[in-house]
Amino acid sequence: MKTRADGLPALDWFRLAAAVLVVCIHTSPLESFAPLWDFWLTRVLARVAVPFFLMVSGHFLAKGGWRGAGRFWRRTAALYLATAGLYLPVNLYNGMGPLEWLRALVTDGTLYHLWYFPAVLLGVPLAVLLLRLGKGPALCLAGALYLAGLGGDSYYGLVSQVPALAALYDGAFCIWEQTRNGLFYAPLFLLLGGACPRLPRRAAAPGLAAALAAMSLEAFWARAMGWQRWDSMYLLLPLCMVLLFSLLLSLDRGEDRRARRVSMLMYVLHPWWIVLLRPAARLTGLEGLLLDNSLVHFAAVLALTWASALMLYALRPLPADPTARAWRELDRAALVHNARVLQAAAGRRCRLMAVVKADAYGHGAAPVARTLRRAGVDCFAVACLSEGAALRRAGIFAPILVLGWTAPEQAELLRRWRLTQAVADLDHARALSARGVKIKVHLAVDTGMRRLGIPAEDEEGLAAVFALPHLRVTGLFSHLCLSDDAGAQAAAFTRRQLDAFYAAADGLRRRGLDPGALHVQASYGIWNLPPQPCQYARPGIALYGVYSDESPVRRRLDLRPVLSLRARVASVRTLRAGEGAGYGLAFTAARETRLAAVTIGYADGVPRDLPARGGEVLVRGVRCPMVGRACMDQLLVDVTGAGEVRPGDPVTLIGADGPERIPAEEVAARCGTITNELLSRLGARLPVAAR
Ligand SMILES: *Cc1c(COP(=O)(O)O)cnc(C)c1O
Repeated sequence: MKTRADGLPALDWFRLAAAVLVVCIHTSPLESFAPLWDFWLTRVLARVAVPFFLMVSGHFLAKGGWRGAGRFWRRTAALYLATAGLYLPVNLYNGMGPLEWLRALVTDGTLYHLWYFPAVLLGVPLAVLLLRLGKGPALCLAGALYLAGLGGDSYYGLVSQVPALAALYDGAFCIWEQTRNGLFYAPLFLLLGGACPRLPRRAAAPGLAAALAAMSLEAFWARAMGWQRWDSMYLLLPLCMVLLFSLLLSLDRGEDRRARRVSMLMYVLHPWWIVLLRPAARLTGLEGLLLDNSLVHFAAVLALTWASALMLYALRPLPADPTARAWRELDRAALVHNARVLQAAAGRRCRLMAVVKADAYGHGAAPVARTLRRAGVDCFAVACLSEGAALRRAGIFAPILVLGWTAPEQAELLRRWRLTQAVADLDHARALSARGVKIKVHLAVDTGMRRLGIPAEDEEGLAAVFALPHLRVTGLFSHLCLSDDAGAQAAAFTRRQLDAFYAAADGLRRRGLDPGALHVQASYGIWNLPPQPCQYARPGIALYGVYSDESPVRRRLDLRPVLSLRARVASVRTLRAGEGAGYGLAFTAARETRLAAVTIGYADGVPRDLPARGGEVLVRGVRCPMVGRACMDQLLVDVTGAGEVRPGDPVTLIGADGPERIPAEEVAARCGTITNELLSRLGARLPVAAR
């Protein structure tokens, strides 16, 4: 357990503070008592709130190497649209036309507080674009944009004395009402959030106090000079933000999801309470108190906002616990580790094409592909079109090769999902091309497996595919059928396969045709062959950290099993000696027996004959035999040796529990099959729990 001494979820808690500051900005709590103090609070100090939100976003995006930017963008856009919809009644009441609304949607936001969303939606892609130049240049350019933005904000009165500059800013103001937007304002804070230095707390805290004081002087000065067109950007604001964020980072431990969600809800909801408080105050005759007393007004808006945010948060759909019944547990770290090891084994010039067919061999294609994508794997292979489409829908935009046959009539769908198709033979290629839609293909070369591909020696046939008008050949590959056999004869056959493959590639090159990316090694090709002069290797089973069976390989690599298969004890009872249990009473207790019903069956992919073949599970770290016949949704386990077993206890069918482990290879061997089959049959009813 974490203790307070470890630190606080400082970033998440400051989100709440920032949300309160935003409410301050929009309600001016001190206005009716001390306008100058109110200016200081709401137009100077509270200006840290929105840059903070931007920096938090940048911070987490940068942690993932900005690879999550697309997903973040889509989620923000969805939230923005929902929020804009929420305020549509206000827009209608104010007489806003549809065109004006659409314009506001992409520029300043459809209500005053919503400018943040279009700023993020423009700022994030801009930041990603700038980062292509490198971190330093990106920060410099974003800083320059911010400086330019200052001229349209706190320093407009100064800058606009130069007519040319005034004209420039007035041009910008034809698009946005302010320079506090996605171009001039958001990129800098997003990037600073990702590149914030971690200063020692001793330096950051007094530094922040000094910077805030200096920024206050700056603000009052600009105000006194009458320069301010707006009061949301200051020269010293980025410095204040770096110091504040650094301080928070130094305190930050752990996370507080509730604070995250509630702060966002507060941000989204508070203008509705500002709107609704007016008629409410009139109706109750409390205008003097609720509207004219700025402090009471602020307090009322804040209380209502806070209460409604908490209420909405409480109404959120409760996330289902994937580990409630039976589940596939995905060890992400092991997957990433395996990808690194295989990448190293494949050689420097050869990249991984991760084979994630059959729901990633039963591991869950979407979480597997996302994890690999984040680890830098940039190419995937699936068995069929629908698997490729599912990956696209899961947000995988890297190249995907469909290894299996696809009906030519589906060519349009291949193009729609931007999938690369493997060509099964020349007829297949012609039929695909005849559909008249441009698609990318990899040419399968049959080097002896006699499954798919144009025969390696048929140079004319291979070359003919290049002449087809609608296919673009971007790769050439073959599949080895004996690479899992370490014997000398098999090795010689494999050698001939490789020679035929490279000869086919050379033949095409001699004809002036570019075969594109070559790939030939699957898992056993990596384990049993030296690195190949190819652009890709296509490991499947090896990525998941298991061998297909117990046959030996040349190079054993340090791979880790990725999947554990677990269920729970549903019920425990004691059988007298001689008593039977299960369908057909196939089990008879030889002695007094503690029998557990376990929440997984053959419909989940557990082989039905596993109990009869000596299948075991781990309960409380102890190996216990499966007994009787497996049912569709349950199976029986003799837990006599496992101590005090209770309903709800986890049961491991594949994987480790304490020091004891049941490898997938062991289960597959019992059932006379390979791990590929065992794992790929794990049912869709099993949720994936990634850790
Ligand atoms: C399934 C498949 C692979 C992956 O095979 P593993 O033995 O699991 O590594 C590679 N290439 C092709 C063509 C496949 O069909």
